[in-house]
Amino acid sequence: IDTKLPKVGTTIFSVMSQLAVEHQAVNLGQGFPDFEPPQALREAIARAMAEGRNQYAPGIGLPTLREQIALKTERMYGRRIDAAGEVTVTSGATEALFAAIAAVVRAGDEVIVFDPAYDSYEPVIELQGAKAVHIPLTVPSFGVDWQRVRDAVTPRTRMILINSPHNPSGAVLSAADLDQLAAIVRDTEIVVLSDEVYEHIVFDGALHQSVLRHAELAARSIVVSSFGKTYHCTGWKLGYAVAPAALSAEFRKVHQYLTFCTFHPAQVAFAEFMASTPEHYLELPAFYQAKRDRFRALIAPSRFKLLDVPGGYFQLVDYSAIRDEPDVTFCEWLVKQGGVAAIPLAPFYETAPDTRLVRLCFAKSDATMDAAAERLCKL
Ligand code: PMP
Ligand code: GLN
Repeated sequence: IDTKLPKVGTTIFSVMSQLAVEHQAVNLGQGFPDFEPPQALREAIARAMAEGRNQYAPGIGLPTLREQIALKTERMYGRRIDAAGEVTVTSGATEALFAAIAAVVRAGDEVIVFDPAYDSYEPVIELQGAKAVHIPLTVPSFGVDWQRVRDAVTPRTRMILINSPHNPSGAVLSAADLDQLAAIVRDTEIVVLSDEVYEHIVFDGALHQSVLRHAELAARSIVVSSFGKTYHCTGWKLGYAVAPAALSAEFRKVHQYLTFCTFHPAQVAFAEFMASTPEHYLELPAFYQAKRDRFRALIAPSRFKLLDVPGGYFQLVDYSAIRDEPDVTFCEWLVKQGGVAAIPLAPFYETAPDTRLVRLCFAKSDATMDAAAERLCKL
């Protein structure tokens, strides 16, 4: 078959989860919590189904849920958005990213992405007949070299895709970074796509620098978030996009033919739970910071070197003291011989640097962390 995506195989997340099952490894690879969503949220979704909320929801999302998203945005980022015209509920952030790129990017356009980049971005860009222009983040801090971005912008640049907190590194953008970005896109037609799925997982008292805090950027950005990350329910596949009305209208043209609407019972449950329990997302930084710190303490005695984790739920570790081989090879060895599944960084790169880093997910129960740490400390 004449494939449209010759470079794409099965995602590394599926590959590593499969290997984890085959080798009975502790799975710190694919990013998902191994603990349950809040009890009240599970009861709310069960109730929604029992009460017959089982047919199509409004295409753009339940009004009550969009209103809660708007309230949260105002509370967190000080920006009042219009729930009717600027919020669209999607089937996870994955759908929102697809719809955003498909709505904005044309054949022949260029989209700037930062490597390591989440694996869904480039295939979606390629499906539009457009080109991803890769800019490597600096190692080991995974910061943006804004001069490289300035140099990479051409008349064909249609979009810049940012991700903070960043998967896989956990790096976060600062307010100064957003100012740099704003200066670059000023007086251009460039749309910013801001993947903020880990918006509520920022540590050590730092504020998440959403583009929604930044008036100039907010006016030309599509911001994507995920209920799966915030509420420990990656399997429910619910997310949303926030964008100014004109951009939202374009976004919705794609969304209505991609999925039309999303899982109705989950929307009912989130509308209810967000209204009753805002402390869930307000307390999420502390919740995950405790997990981060516990995991770091457990593997501190190992031969892995720990990189800093300002946000997100992944720990990067340097394994060079254990084996000197590329990360994909190391992850195969680790899952088979070490009994722990990790994620290599190479699949997140166009041209991977010669580093010795892998990603471990710490969105895990104490028992899982303990089991993994025991194995990792033996290597
Ligand atoms: N973007 C990033 C950076 C992610 O880490 C993920 C989830 N792993 C997604 C998007 C997709 O989120 P969802 O599961 O809501 O589709
Ligand atoms: N986003 C998750 C991660 O980075 C996985 C999502 C997926 O499996 N597609 O691990």
